[in-house]
Parts: sequence; C-alpha cells; structure tokens
Amino acid sequence: MLQVQQLVKHFDGIRAVDGVSFEVLPGQCVALIGPNGAGKSTTFACIAGQYPLTGGHIAWKGVALEGLSPQARLQHGVARTFQVAQVFEALTVLQNVQLAAQAQRGLWAISAFKGLSGQMREPALALLAQTGLEALAAQDALSLPYGAKKRLELAVALAARPQLLLLDEPAAGLAGPERASLMQLVKGLAGQGMTVLYTEHNMDAVAGVADRVLVLIEGKLAAQGSFDEISRDPVVRSRYLGEAAGEAAGEGVSHA
Ligand code: ADP
Ligand code: MG
Repeated sequence: MLQVQQLVKHFDGIRAVDGVSFEVLPGQCVALIGPNGAGKSTTFACIAGQYPLTGGHIAWKGVALEGLSPQARLQHGVARTFQVAQVFEALTVLQNVQLAAQAQRGLWAISAFKGLSGQMREPALALLAQTGLEALAAQDALSLPYGAKKRLELAVALAARPQLLLLDEPAAGLAGPERASLMQLVKGLAGQGMTVLYTEHNMDAVAGVADRVLVLIEGKLAAQGSFDEISRDPVVRSRYLGEAAGEAAGEGVSHA
C-alpha cells in the first residue's frame, strides 16, 4: 500500500502541495485530478523522489520513501513517467526498452562491452507488444509521433518491472481514440496486479478507468471517491468543473 501523510511541498512561498493525505491499495488504479497548477505533478515528483519534501511522510509497503533517491525507490518497485515524454531520442524504440530492461537487471557494465543488439531483446519485444509499439521497434525515438512517444515512455517504465507505477498525465497531448486506448492500457496494468497512480486534468480520462479518484485543488485534497461520487460533489463541480454552485447533490463523498 502507498501511504501519503500530510505531504507538504513549498517552492519559495508557493504552496504547491499543502497537507495532502491519501492511500492507494495494492492493485488499485487511482487518478489524481485537478486543474492546472493544482499540485499534481509536484505530488508525483515527491513520491518518485525528484524533490525533497517540505513536510510529511510517504511510505510504500511500509518502507519510508522520503529519504531515498529515485534510483533507490526504483529498487523498491516505484517507477514513474513524465507529463512530457522523456526517452532517448538517438536510440530506436526497441533499444530504449532494452536499455531500461538492462538497467533493471544491473547489466550496464555488460552492455558497455557487447552493445545493445542482443541484450534483453525478447523481454523488450514483449513490452513493445504490450504497449502496441511492435511495428515501430526499429524506428528512431526522435521521429516518433507524440502518441507513440508516450507509449514508449510507458514501456520504458514497465521495463523496470514496477509494483507501483506513477504516470503523470499518461495521455497528455493525445486526442480521440488514441487517448482512449492509452487509458485502457493503463487500466489493464492495474488489472494485472500493478498499483497505478496517474494524474490527469480532464475528466474523460477518469471515467471507466480509475477505481478511485482524488481531486486536488490549490494544493489540497478537495474530495475523493468513485468517479460518480466526485462528479456529483458540489465543491468539485463549482471549483474544478466550473459549474454554478448548488446544482449538484453530492452524496457519499469524503471531504479531506
Ligand atoms: P499540476 O501538475 O497540477 O498542473 P504542478 O504541481 O506542476 O501542478 O504545480 C503546482 C504549483 O507549483 C504551480 O503554482 C507551479 O507554478 C508551482 N511549481 C511547480 N514546480 C515548481 C518549481 N520547480 N519551482 C517553483 N514552482 C513550482
Ligand atoms: Mg502537471
């Protein structure tokens, strides 16, 4: 289980995250939603280890994460992707995933001598199949369309064989069927037992995907519950969805 307790992250007086507490159970697919600037990416960076905390505690399976480097967190099964896809553009799609799979198995030294040609080829191809990238295996990452780059970043994160996968806007910049199919892929990962926490700023990527939804507004958790529950919540409707107050009759939503 992921436990986030009273998480605080300030940047020079900006209260990006201001006392956020929540838990994610093993195998759950949880969405962290909210308007731009709500603190979603900062919350992620704190869990993944990019930022030291201003305050609070983060534990995964009972292990305190706050003192650990991103690499040490990866050893504990915690992996992330970024809102803007980050891959090695000079390598092919397959090589990107091979490299990530090698790193997971501590094979950096061997790869330096033998190159990437044979190393971890089969597991990497399996990950490309899983993420719908098989046909693009030999293409340079540089020339990929953006949707494929987002999938590749997901494949790279999966190569670390994570137990807790943190996805910052996995479908950012994608539209229509491409967006829907990537979100179904995300949902499927949780279906296989992985614990998934993802951020999103549009409600369309939450319905039918997330088991539970956390709503962040101005660095604080405004509501949490099922998609139906949070979409009926009056605070969420007025402050996030921009609807007139008083329209909704929210029930069964716990306010944080
Ligand atoms: P979201 O992902 O929900 O859009 P962010 O977590 O990126 O929100 O940002 C939350 C707030 O913190 C914003 O006001 C943003 O400008 C600020 N912020 C985020 N990262 C930094 C940083 N590295 N330095 C200073 N301010 C930051
Ligand atoms: Mg963000």
